[in-house]
Amino acid sequence: MKAIKIAIDGPASSGKSTVAKIIAKNLGYTYLDTGAMYRSATYIALKYDFTESDVHKILSTLEKNPISFKKTSDGSQEVYLGEENVTLAIRQNDVTNNVSWVSAIAEIREELVRQQRRIAKNGAIIMDGRDIGTVVLPDAELKIFLIASVEERAQRRYKENLEKGIESDFERLKDEIASRDYKDSHRQVSPLKAADDAIIFDTTGIDIQGVVKFIQEKAEKLLT
Ligand code: C5P
Repeated sequence: MKAIKIAIDGPASSGKSTVAKIIAKNLGYTYLDTGAMYRSATYIALKYDFTESDVHKILSTLEKNPISFKKTSDGSQEVYLGEENVTLAIRQNDVTNNVSWVSAIAEIREELVRQQRRIAKNGAIIMDGRDIGTVVLPDAELKIFLIASVEERAQRRYKENLEKGIESDFERLKDEIASRDYKDSHRQVSPLKAADDAIIFDTTGIDIQGVVKFIQEKAEKLLT
């Protein structure tokens, strides 16, 4: 069967990774969470107190401790930096609230984009992020840009946190999401934006299965 590349972009907590994982499983595709890669670089920066002027130190630490993904027996993905399992650490608030300055550094993006393209080179991939349709895989056969109101995205994140046993303040979550959106959309390099040929899909009020169905039908049409 023909293999395609699927790019899913959109702002924070728009449901990209949840739907991308389900579609990857349904189609037997590789799923790449590019946000986890920027989060891993941020984890390094925070762990060693690196700042923007230490870009080369961040890059050399990444080179010595490459990012890798491992599938667990329950089908979920774990993220490693070298031998260190950083799956949970990269989701903590300090990483979330610092990722935008790290991901705005051109040299960091160049290196991670190189790695992302290498992983995608055989096709049969679904990748989610901010610049997949515009920069990483401009030739992707299917490009989706998911949007949803800040209110709804904060509610989803709040619920997710509760399920994981993490206490959070709803208003603060809303402010953090809006602030990350602003920084991601206004940076100089590869800002968050829809590719000209992307399908923009507003998921406000639509559940996960509804979003999966919408994207998967488009993918299956391309595959036949
Ligand atoms: O998708 P997630 O919310 O985990 O992404 C974390 C951060 O990583 C984003 O807020 C953004 O700053 C950065 N990112 C990016 N480009 C991507 C994926 C994520 O700049 N392709």
